[in-house]
Amino acid sequence: MEAPGAYTGMLWEYGPTDQCYINTTVEAPCQQGYVPQYSVNASSIKDIQTAVRFANKHDLYLVIKNTGHDHLGRSSGGNGFSIWTHYLKGRTWHDSFVPVNAPKDVSGQPAVTLQAGEQWVDVYHAAATERRIVVGGHARTVGSAGGWLTGGGHSAWSNIYGLGIDNVLEVDVITPTGELVTLNPYTNQDHFWAIRGGGGCAFGIVTHVTYKTHPEPDHIQAVLVQVNATTNETLKEALSATLKALDIATAAGYTGYGYINQLNTESLFPAGFGAILLKPNGDDESFFAAAAPFLKINNSNGISSLAFPLIYPRWIDYINVYLTDQNIAQNVVDASRLLTPSVIHNETANEALVDMMIEHGAGLNFIGRVNTTGRSNTAVHPAWAESIGVLSFGTNWEDEAPFEEKQFKRQLLVAQSERLGEIFGPTGGTYINEANPFEPDWQNVFWGSNYARLLGIKRSIDPTNLFVCNRCVGTDIVFEAS
Ligand SMILES: Cc1cc2nc3c(=O)[nH]c(=O)nc-3n(C[C@H](O)[C@H](O)[C@H](O)COP(=O)(O)OP(=O)(O)OC[C@H]3O[C@@H](n4cnc5c(N)ncnc54)[C@H](O)[C@@H]3O)c2cc1C
Repeated sequence: MEAPGAYTGMLWEYGPTDQCYINTTVEAPCQQGYVPQYSVNASSIKDIQTAVRFANKHDLYLVIKNTGHDHLGRSSGGNGFSIWTHYLKGRTWHDSFVPVNAPKDVSGQPAVTLQAGEQWVDVYHAAATERRIVVGGHARTVGSAGGWLTGGGHSAWSNIYGLGIDNVLEVDVITPTGELVTLNPYTNQDHFWAIRGGGGCAFGIVTHVTYKTHPEPDHIQAVLVQVNATTNETLKEALSATLKALDIATAAGYTGYGYINQLNTESLFPAGFGAILLKPNGDDESFFAAAAPFLKINNSNGISSLAFPLIYPRWIDYINVYLTDQNIAQNVVDASRLLTPSVIHNETANEALVDMMIEHGAGLNFIGRVNTTGRSNTAVHPAWAESIGVLSFGTNWEDEAPFEEKQFKRQLLVAQSERLGEIFGPTGGTYINEANPFEPDWQNVFWGSNYARLLGIKRSIDPTNLFVCNRCVGTDIVFEAS
């Protein structure tokens, strides 16, 4: 987003009541909505330090914004004072990176250091020139060193290399007193743990992050899967079997992205499930292991399914074809949970999820098992260790829709999140960056048993609560759906 007050989700620009819209004339009087009153376009670390000290001294509502892509409005804030990191660009490639203060026997590893304003598509193109892989989002313009990082962002590579935070070797952050500190396992273990999954800006402003890099595979196998049904009854059967097939496909090492369409005779899209599944160096054997459970759903009762593989020589070839940024300038609100095999194979829970899918449609913003080696070293919800994807329900509305419709849809998604809470039980959790922005049980659903430790660290590093955002650890900023 090339303007300090522009946001991907229009709700986080306009605020809950009506505002000027994209097509409103410039002469029309507009309210401020959730857009901060003042914004510092940071072009150096010193700019950030000065702005943080100014906000601290004058007790301002400080908002940190990078791309403005947040689904929870955490980079917005009416009457706020914002630091905008978008133009802090820079990448340094290392052949042998060793974290600060590391003992002598720690060997260096290939890595890249990114400045706060870097965005994934630029990193991917540079990585391709280096013939390396960086574990990043399936998106062009999402920031590489902001909310994706602190929220525990997922990646098409997560099955092999874990979440983004599992690849972090070091982070430089500005503290509430304006100090620049380096976080890694040899400097401050608590703070380093918290910033990797603690979410939003709660644990400091990242100026640089250093991620491990990995060698390019020989090729990328992409598998297109489609399961269609023609009635709600057969759709129920198809979706129940699809959830179980996902468990098998992810066990075979595939990650990916998918959607579930309702039966809608006016829609061009068939009712059912569609996905793209990915596996670096995937071969015929792995393809059949992943595709077989979907193909078996095919029957003479009105359910059809197909799956076929495509090969892309390099990751950058895949990126150039598939990476698009959807939902830009929309009023999207989500409700989600980390999809776990224990829920999929529980017939009652499976049926309840399928009923929700048939009623509302759904998305799988991420499909895959995450390599969780060392999971306890990061602060994300423990359910990530078991999860095979992010199941997401969503809504959208026209800018000019009546207030009542907007309010109804916001509240509907809260109700859906509560229903998911009943289905997944108290240990169920979600991916915070794709969660409901008005989640009532947010501390538990976002972090589960990790919340208490996070809050303790927050209190010790930010006792005056300078770094706040909607439903961030220790915050008093809690946006309401009403
Ligand atoms: C089109 C699109 C595609 C997406 N694809 C994926 C995907 O493939 N995988 C995935 O995991 N997620 C994905 N997401 C979700 C994405 O990870 C979140 O929206 C994330 O919060 C965006 O972070 P940002 O820094 O770009 O955005 P912003 O809205 O600018 O910031 C988000 C949060 O991070 C904080 N923040 C920003 N910069 C800093 C900083 N330097 N230091 C500390 N805090 C900071 C902000 O205060 C805010 O709380 C996608 C989102 C969109 C809109």
